[in-house]
Amino acid sequence: MGPATSYIRLAPRPQRSQSERMPSPESLRERDDLVVEVGDLVGHAGRIRDVSGSRQASLRLGESKLEGPLQVDGRVVGTLDGVQAEFSASGSVHLSCVRCLAEWDEQLEVSGSQHFSIDPDEDGYAIEGTTVDVFGPAQDEFALDIPVAPLCQDDCRGLCPICGSDLNSDPCDGHGEDSDSPFAVLKDLLDS
Ligand SMILES: [Zn+2]
Ligand SMILES: [Zn+2]
Repeated sequence: MGPATSYIRLAPRPQRSQSERMPSPESLRERDDLVVEVGDLVGHAGRIRDVSGSRQASLRLGESKLEGPLQVDGRVVGTLDGVQAEFSASGSVHLSCVRCLAEWDEQLEVSGSQHFSIDPDEDGYAIEGTTVDVFGPAQDEFALDIPVAPLCQDDCRGLCPICGSDLNSDPCDGHGEDSDSPFAVLKDLLDS
């Protein structure tokens, strides 16, 4: 008995009408996954809708910056007077060491939450129509965690203030012996 020959039958593709295949620019604009319909969640405590999407962000804190997509994942939960958004936000941050000026990219992830009701809160977040936009609070939370004074390593030795060489990789030793240096003068006094 030889092995049975099996066939993979390809299901015919469902035919779609032209209008379904080509979304109009208006419907493309409305398809932002971080704008969540909450009309059926408000007042229904515990009803949950998952949220996931990304949007381009431009954040700068000192020399640290995010220029690119900010990914937001989480859920929106109904409360008695609105909805509670619980989210995580992640993105790649470009950092520059404040001591030695080395640059690198680092993936950062933060989590947070935001309550939306009909009345705007102190940050201006509110239910708009029947939707909430989770991106704003997620971006705010992310910005709070971007390091203002990043270090390439905790004990970064920085740059030599005299010759500018990177003391992590290229320690210099010549300046201490300068006759102008107050330390050299002190050393001379101690030696004599
Ligand atoms: Zn450094
Ligand atoms: Zn030096």
